[in-house]
Amino acid sequence: KRPIEELNDALRDTEGQREAIKVYKSVVHWFKQDLRTKDNTALHKASEKAKRDGVPLIGLYLVSPQDFEAHLTSRVRVDFILRTLQVLQEDLAQLDIPLYVETVEKRKKIPSRILELCKRWEANHLYANMEYEVDELRREALLVRKGAEIGISVNVLHDTCIVEPGRLKTGVGNQFSVYSPWYRAFVAFLHSHPNHLKIHPAPSQNPGFTRTKFKPLFEMAIPDAPISKALNDEEKHRYRALWPVGEQEACERLAKFLTKRVNNYKDKRNLPAEDGTSMLSVHFASGSISARTAIAAAQEVNSSPKLDAGIQGIMTWISEVAWRDFYKHVLAHWPFVCMNKCFKPEYTNIRWEYNDDQFEAWKAGRTGYPLVDAGMRQALATGYMHNRVRMVVASFLAKDLLVDWRLGEQYFMELLIDGDFASNNGGWGFSSSAGVDPQPYFRVFNPTLQSEKFDPEGHYIRKWVPELKEIKGKAIHDPYGKGASITAKRNGYPEPIVEHKFARNRALSRYKEGLGRD
Ligand code: FAD
Repeated sequence: KRPIEELNDALRDTEGQREAIKVYKSVVHWFKQDLRTKDNTALHKASEKAKRDGVPLIGLYLVSPQDFEAHLTSRVRVDFILRTLQVLQEDLAQLDIPLYVETVEKRKKIPSRILELCKRWEANHLYANMEYEVDELRREALLVRKGAEIGISVNVLHDTCIVEPGRLKTGVGNQFSVYSPWYRAFVAFLHSHPNHLKIHPAPSQNPGFTRTKFKPLFEMAIPDAPISKALNDEEKHRYRALWPVGEQEACERLAKFLTKRVNNYKDKRNLPAEDGTSMLSVHFASGSISARTAIAAAQEVNSSPKLDAGIQGIMTWISEVAWRDFYKHVLAHWPFVCMNKCFKPEYTNIRWEYNDDQFEAWKAGRTGYPLVDAGMRQALATGYMHNRVRMVVASFLAKDLLVDWRLGEQYFMELLIDGDFASNNGGWGFSSSAGVDPQPYFRVFNPTLQSEKFDPEGHYIRKWVPELKEIKGKAIHDPYGKGASITAKRNGYPEPIVEHKFARNRALSRYKEGLGRD
């Protein structure tokens, strides 16, 4: 049984029991990757419930160092989450809602700890939004059943996807594995169900909250990062200047993008030297803004009420935001992609190289391919990499270096500030050809041609690879091949660690061999 079905069963089996439970002294919302007050489905429902019954609403967040380890959450992302919690706590306090934050060392203790806290606060209604990773779905299924046994109604709701997983089906009732028809179904569904883009308001002022009784909850300090995830002072300074946190920041970023840049999105989104994309992924990943809010706001400035008509830049951007939903639908339906497995089993048989030196060179941005190195260094310096360059570096690792793409997938999670399991897995699957809706295995990006096409002036390369700064013209894309070798060598820039033509042929023959093709 799929984990999402286990949770749905638990919700269905306990429905009557849960509905019969009367609200007692408080209602709790458990925050996870939904760190915002506005358009938060479960928080909204929790607040409505509390308001109706005239009891206080309490926010809860559990910091789980083991979850950070298990999910390979990058240090910069842990820092971003903890800083976001601080701002969320302040935002909630304005509404007289406390945010109780506690570290739970053993992740398996999370369900029992939540129920203990509910008992302590005499809360018998708990709300949370659904996450579609396997462990989370199973944990929530357990929590729903355990809660019902002891008279606590645990309500787990769809929120993070605009259209919930399982809703969109092919003509014969299957889950889509190809994006374009899925997107047509997504658009058609939203046109016929406009309520799915309705935005829930932030909770109203907390009812019946006596600050004196619950005062200690208002004084919870946000914990420091676990030691293994802590940033040093220089990193804190650097990342915090680059990535301000919070719901208001996310909304302002969205508004600025929609007024200043979205119209040119289609033309500029593939150019890493341009400020052409929204840079909102980090906020979607921590939930400081919802994808629904983003699409609804884009539609407000669109010239057509239809999602697939009107201003080209807006249409394109909405279709990109939808990729996030698509990959979560894939994860919920084919949970094995979460377990280090290839979406297409035949891709399991590829003979990878496992060349540690080359893998390390890739990680450090020292492959001798300027666009690849610029991308890897952008990520090392900022926690973020441009989407076009993510595709190029991923293809380079899986095809030119023939290093198992799953090592790259894991490394990205440890590196990126916007690490999102489903999108990252989907991106690696696409680039390595082993995933859902992949690019065909025989299409191998040429990193030099990609560089000439998408960074024609070399501005992005010059920014991130200072050794190549002085090189003029086309030689920046291929310094050792196009007459800039003296400068590159003098400045310590490495020669290509693999020759692309050789690497391409090797990849084609290994993929063919793995797939059992002639
Ligand atoms: P915009 O271009 O402004 O797009 C808006 C939003 O749409 C993004 O914030 C994101 O939520 C969504 N989106 C856009 N493109 C994609 C896509 N291809 N797949 C899924 N969602 C998309 N995105 C993540 O959020 N987390 C990841 O861990 C992640 N890993 C990736 C790994 C690889 C190998 C590849 C090829 C892509 C990965 N992406 C990931 C997708 C994409 O690179 C980023 O979402 C995008 O670069 C974020 O920048 P932006 O917010 O300015 O995007």
